[in-house]
Amino acid sequence: MSLYDVPVSSLKGFGKLRAELFSKLNINSVGELLRFYPRTYTAWGDITPVSELVNGEKALIKARVVTAVNTVRISGGRILSKVQVSDDSGVIELVFFNNKYISSMLKFDEEYCFYGKVTKDLYGFSMTSPEFKKLSEMSAITPVYNLTHGLTNRMVITAVKQAVSMLPQTMVDPLPYDILKRYDLCTLRFALMNIHFPADEHALEKARRRLVFEEFLVLNLGLRLLKNRKLKDTSCKMPVDYTGEFISTLPYTLTNAQKNAVVDCVNDMKNKKSPMNRLVQGDVGSGKTAVAAAVCYNTVKNGFQAAFMAPTEILATQHFENLTKMFSPFDIKVDLLIGSMTKSKKDKVREKLLSGETDIIIGTHALITDATKFKNLGCAITDEQHRFGVEQRSKLQQKGEMPHVLVLSATPIPRTLGLIIYGDLDITCIDELPPGRKPVRTMMIDSKKRNDALGFIKQEVDSGRQCYIVCPLVEEGELELESAENYAAELMLDCFADYPVGILHGKMKSKDKDEVMNRFSNGEISILVSTTVIEVGVDVKNASVIMIENADRFGLSQLHQLRGRVGRGEHKSYCILVSDNKSEDTLKRLSTMCRTNNGFEIADEDLRLRGPGDFFGNRQHGLPQLNIADFSDMDSLRDTQSAASYIMSVSPDLSDESFKGLKAMVKLLWKSIDNGALN
Ligand code: ADP
Ligand code: MG
Repeated sequence: MSLYDVPVSSLKGFGKLRAELFSKLNINSVGELLRFYPRTYTAWGDITPVSELVNGEKALIKARVVTAVNTVRISGGRILSKVQVSDDSGVIELVFFNNKYISSMLKFDEEYCFYGKVTKDLYGFSMTSPEFKKLSEMSAITPVYNLTHGLTNRMVITAVKQAVSMLPQTMVDPLPYDILKRYDLCTLRFALMNIHFPADEHALEKARRRLVFEEFLVLNLGLRLLKNRKLKDTSCKMPVDYTGEFISTLPYTLTNAQKNAVVDCVNDMKNKKSPMNRLVQGDVGSGKTAVAAAVCYNTVKNGFQAAFMAPTEILATQHFENLTKMFSPFDIKVDLLIGSMTKSKKDKVREKLLSGETDIIIGTHALITDATKFKNLGCAITDEQHRFGVEQRSKLQQKGEMPHVLVLSATPIPRTLGLIIYGDLDITCIDELPPGRKPVRTMMIDSKKRNDALGFIKQEVDSGRQCYIVCPLVEEGELELESAENYAAELMLDCFADYPVGILHGKMKSKDKDEVMNRFSNGEISILVSTTVIEVGVDVKNASVIMIENADRFGLSQLHQLRGRVGRGEHKSYCILVSDNKSEDTLKRLSTMCRTNNGFEIADEDLRLRGPGDFFGNRQHGLPQLNIADFSDMDSLRDTQSAASYIMSVSPDLSDESFKGLKAMVKLLWKSIDNGALN
């Protein structure tokens, strides 16, 4: 029988109440309890004699209980317990709150170890709520678990101890023996015992390495299965390639890289039984919109509707305007659907979509709400994909009869991570910029030079250019508005009194945002002071300078995105990074920006300097929650990549008996995301 079938309530000392508390932590079975890894460990260090304790520092003492526990009720119905303990060198008072059991746990004249923060005042030493153990229970490393109200670490430890003792002597390991051997990993039994109650540091490390490996491997295999899954055949057959007649109407020739990307997409839509699932990755300004438009054109000419989804209303509106222009020579109806439209307007747009009057719909998340229905969606395109997860992509795909899916991303991602984040997609790179682009000249300055920079901006504006100023970064929320407005007000007073300045920030209504953006696009506003809402995709060719305050607070990839707002036209362009942070790390990062304009190079450098946090960070990557692994562990990531390749080469669907355990884990991890695709 599997320990997943043994309820925690069958453990000793478990009443209904305690089982409910564990259930709040999503622990219902002994199996789940064993997989509830400690959050951290306390390494109780050397014992300090009481006489040598230092105020404010944590210490471990070994002392005998020398008074009875004195418990009183205090305000708010709370219980306060005090007891004195002593070693040969001195006496210290211990204070506990709301622990009814202290008097039964701490026996008079017995010795314990106490660990906690020491306070010294007029009355001598004290510790508040120290952890403690009987001498016989002392081991070097104690697990610390995430708790919920009402559950103490001690209760969890007691429960886990029982669970560990239930591990069968000969346990089936989900990792086959040859994998364990090849990657020098311990068995699951050893790992589970030592992740909770490590024999020593070395055993803990071995246990952790094995569990991290296992988790990455399961994640990786899940992604590969998703990618190889036999999608239902698409009913969106698009046998004819109409690309030629579309691109001949564009005001420019597509670059070879753009052409290749279109060819990849058209081939996917033409030849394959299953729908296209492709990522087109290209640096900022590489011309992904034109690729998307060509794909839309093919879709419509083959008799289907196309949807183009963008992460912000500004960007959706801009795509709408661009595509409307691009399709004006043809009899193709383009429409826009965004959240800020009035209900009646939205209803009308949706009506036309459902009747088939609209050929191409552009919009935000509003496109994937249930109310939006298509007559015959043939291709769904999402732009700047890092804001969409696996789940949202599949939601979009359910809007039609398995339509084709194309994802555009401007965030270059190092290959190792790309395989994870986009593991379920085929990938095409646009590795070439349209001809004639001049690299943006980038410099870093400190705030002493800010006035010079503002003077330079004035000069540029005087000669007809426009400019972005990205305000100091603030925490999300209310402050955003105030600080953006204050910052802009100061600029307007101090140096841009005679210039048209606009403000853009995340808290504005979309209508107002659009208005400001439009006025910037058509040149009415010369200087746009903005929070990072301009980060994604905005395209104004006349803008030639972007100045970024607090540049050190941004990730390199984000800076690169911001910089991509300029240098989009014929004008020589500049990026000014302002930072007073002189740390070596900052200097290194910002000088990378000054050195290169290549997004992929910057992404690699970012990964090297800061780890992969920025690539996952706040972004919704749509991957399952990891329990113990962490994407900064690139070595394990790499190892599991190769292990997964090997496993898939042996058994592409994991049906081989030796992978049974792994397959079960894959299903469990991906349960919430795959919509039953992994069967
Ligand atoms: P991104 O890949 O960042 O989304 P866009 O699609 O916004 O880039 O294109 C950036 C700019 O380059 C746009 O103004 C677009 O009109 C222009 N552009 C795209 N392709 C070409 C090309 N082949 N030749 C010249 N200009 C191009
Ligand atoms: Mg774009």
